[in-house]
Amino acid sequence: QAGDLADEMGLRAYLVGGFVRDLLLGSGHFDIDLVVEGDGIRFAQECGRRLSLKVVAHGHFGTATLHGLEGFKADIASARKEIYEKPAALPCVSKGGIKDDLFRRDFTINAMAIGINRHCYGEIFDFYGGRRDLESKTIRAMHPLSFIDDPTRILRAVRFEKRFSFRLESRTLLWIRQALARRMLFCVQKHRLRDELILIFKERRPVPVLKRLWGLCGYSFISPGLVYREGWNAAHTRMQKAACWFAAHAAHKRSLDTYVMLMCLFFEGLALRRLKETMLAFAFRKGESRRVLSYRKDAAVLERRLAKQDLRPSEAYRLLEPLAYEVVVLVYALSAKKRVKDRIRDYLVVHHGTRLHVRGEDLAFLGFRPGPHFKKILMAILYAKVDGKLEGKNEELALAKK
Ligand code: ATP
Repeated sequence: QAGDLADEMGLRAYLVGGFVRDLLLGSGHFDIDLVVEGDGIRFAQECGRRLSLKVVAHGHFGTATLHGLEGFKADIASARKEIYEKPAALPCVSKGGIKDDLFRRDFTINAMAIGINRHCYGEIFDFYGGRRDLESKTIRAMHPLSFIDDPTRILRAVRFEKRFSFRLESRTLLWIRQALARRMLFCVQKHRLRDELILIFKERRPVPVLKRLWGLCGYSFISPGLVYREGWNAAHTRMQKAACWFAAHAAHKRSLDTYVMLMCLFFEGLALRRLKETMLAFAFRKGESRRVLSYRKDAAVLERRLAKQDLRPSEAYRLLEPLAYEVVVLVYALSAKKRVKDRIRDYLVVHHGTRLHVRGEDLAFLGFRPGPHFKKILMAILYAKVDGKLEGKNEELALAKK
């Protein structure tokens, strides 16, 4: 339908980027990327109107996103040409054709397009040898200055290399090394590095990417003091297993941000002050920083306390309740102590789902005035219930009266 519309509007439209790459690889890619020779936003608006999809336009970038049912998403952009006037700075953008638009991309395997207009429907536009590189499993940059123009491509190169088990073409590797020798990773805006780091943390197998990056340039461009640890791979496997277990068994069915769990591990070695500075400098999201800092501060103490012999379930509850699930599950995954694991399991599977019969209105009925002490009373009842001391509403009410 989008192709018909492009024909009607006298525009040429193409599927591009990762969608084409993954289609040729035969793997799934759910986000659709379209490029239009002409006004991409007008095309997106017309598409949205005809197909009843929500359109969010980003006028400044000449792009728009269509949102549909079940998370369907399509990005539409106007074909453009980019010229980098300064290393690592944002490029000057002007209108261009599909060939220009593909040339501005990171690697040949991401620089192919598929026509959707009637006259070229399904035709692959491969000006730069992307198909050949896909077949020979090669990551090849488009030109020698690619990593000087945009050093974040170094992170993208290793991410794709490890994701697909490809290899970096020798000149591409040389160009990466040249950019690294010029310390280009220190020149990029930190939030752009953050976005690429998050994409690495979100990979299905992120640790080989981190290892490759460590081998190429270390992590000092993120923070001095960060080091690669051999144990990450095994830890990541345990973490994934624990996350699956959590999804299946935890009383509160909420999916975990497993990438944040990996971030917790990645930043664990940093001194607290340095960690705070890094989180701030890279403008990690509040929720991400909060959980990473919490793991750094709380994990060891938590493990020690949970390992104590005579800990009541309500005491474990109180220790665990303020913490994010990602932190709790990570401690569960990595602890070697059976008692710690058992207590976290009990908390997540049984105690965290504890519900009281008594409600605020029951307390009001008993003559308590609503206020902060309501919560105190309810929590005291909850703890007693977690410890197995109460059964039924009458016992809960009796405790409230006390
Ligand atoms: P993924 O499967 O990880 O989503 P993708 O190839 O779809 O991979 P995106 O980050 O969504 O990656 O980017 C879409 C496309 O935009 C890429 O395929 C690439 O052509 C282009 N692109 C993204 N980032 C850059 C960059 N830094 N420099 C040049 N081109 C880029």
